[in-house]
Amino acid sequence: MQYVSTRGRAPTLPFDDALLAGLARDGGLYVPAVWPLFSRDDIRALRGLPYAEVALRVMAPFVGGTIPAGDLRRIVEETYAGFGHDAVAPLKQLDGGLWLMELFHGPTLAFKDYAMQVLARLFDHVLAARGERVTIVGATSGDTGAAAIEACRDREAIDCFILFPKGRVSPVQQRQMTTVVAANVHAVAVEGTFDDCQDLVKAAFADDGFRDGYSLSAVNSINWARIMPQIAYYFWAAASLGAPDRPVSFAVPTGNFGNVYSAYAARQMGLPVEALVIGTNANDILARFLDSGAMEMRGVEATLSPSMDIQISSNFERLLFDLLDRDGAAVDRTMASFRQSGSYTIGAERLARATALFQGAACDDACTVATIRDIHARTGELVDPHTAVGLHAAQVTAGHRDATVPTVALACAHPAKFAVALERAVGAPAPLPPRMADLLERPERLTSIAADLSALKALVAGRVGARGAAA
Ligand SMILES: *Cc1c(COP(=O)(O)O)cnc(C)c1O
Repeated sequence: MQYVSTRGRAPTLPFDDALLAGLARDGGLYVPAVWPLFSRDDIRALRGLPYAEVALRVMAPFVGGTIPAGDLRRIVEETYAGFGHDAVAPLKQLDGGLWLMELFHGPTLAFKDYAMQVLARLFDHVLAARGERVTIVGATSGDTGAAAIEACRDREAIDCFILFPKGRVSPVQQRQMTTVVAANVHAVAVEGTFDDCQDLVKAAFADDGFRDGYSLSAVNSINWARIMPQIAYYFWAAASLGAPDRPVSFAVPTGNFGNVYSAYAARQMGLPVEALVIGTNANDILARFLDSGAMEMRGVEATLSPSMDIQISSNFERLLFDLLDRDGAAVDRTMASFRQSGSYTIGAERLARATALFQGAACDDACTVATIRDIHARTGELVDPHTAVGLHAAQVTAGHRDATVPTVALACAHPAKFAVALERAVGAPAPLPPRMADLLERPERLTSIAADLSALKALVAGRVGARGAAA
């Protein structure tokens, strides 16, 4: 399998090179040159298989021959064996045709574990084969950093530094980063805001000597290997509910568009997906786009569902590439004008193609709290604020879908991660799962630095240097 850039000018790469590259050199995102196709019999054969086996069958065509089959199997089996539920991604019926798929059984209790755990192992495997190592540097306001630290712990070829704004992440999110005991991962509290953390990461990547000297790398959601493992749970859910003989719809709380794009990918591969419902919080650029065909940037508002507080959805460029008939030059022009003017439009015919599959609805904080409360009262389930946004979107758009087709809403994080929203909705936080009940008592290990590039460089040099000397 070869990967092409959405902007058409970067070299075409095999899987392992696209994995290590992340962003394409022309600023585009890598997508498969062709979609591997699953026949109806292939999909039927997934029914009843263990999750890891489904994931392996879905991922294998994307990896091609770049990783030996036995190694890929080991990576995938080892990943999901570490999850906290035998089913890995259990489905629960809420009422009639509405289902919940729980994607919070990984080590950091959010869906990002499902891909990040695979990505880090793939990185380690490819780097070891090449005799190389990388230093991952990233900034986080919550879920991504915790997932990255858990995924990178004890990986031989990776050192990982995650920057977070001191005193500005929730206690659960902070402990998930600072209580991991491994010599190669570092939770770094920065004196400043999340923007300061991001600026610091950008400055590090812009410093050629530092970037090349330490082989800096990122694990952000534009990496194709963050998308690929997520495709698996859409096949898993659909096959469990009767695909290919019965279609299914999905409702996905959406920020960067990585998760819902994975559902789109599953459909391109032959999965009978009837509709994809996008839930957004008050940062509703995608919902407005589906109404108007205009993608218009606005300022970011802080909400109860912080992992969806985005100004633009970077992975949307992958869908845009298909909507523009895979014309990289057209994507390049569109993104250039977006950068310049803060908006672009796609025209009625292309919008109609998008809305034939995608539906959208926004849910602000008051709506999020009301939805958590309502779902709890009706079903007894406690859902996190991101999940509530998706459930709200599923409910208000239901009249536009075939009532006989089940809708699977994605539960993207465990409700215990978002105590403030849960307290507001039902008067108390949700308890942590038993295997993590002592999280807030575990000893923390973190380093504080000023929001200053020289401080970050000194820290990386000290820690990576020490590890290199010990090896
Ligand atoms: C990251 C995240 C999202 C948004 O997912 P995208 O792939 O960025 O659209 C939604 N909910 C939770 C809990 C998340 O961690």
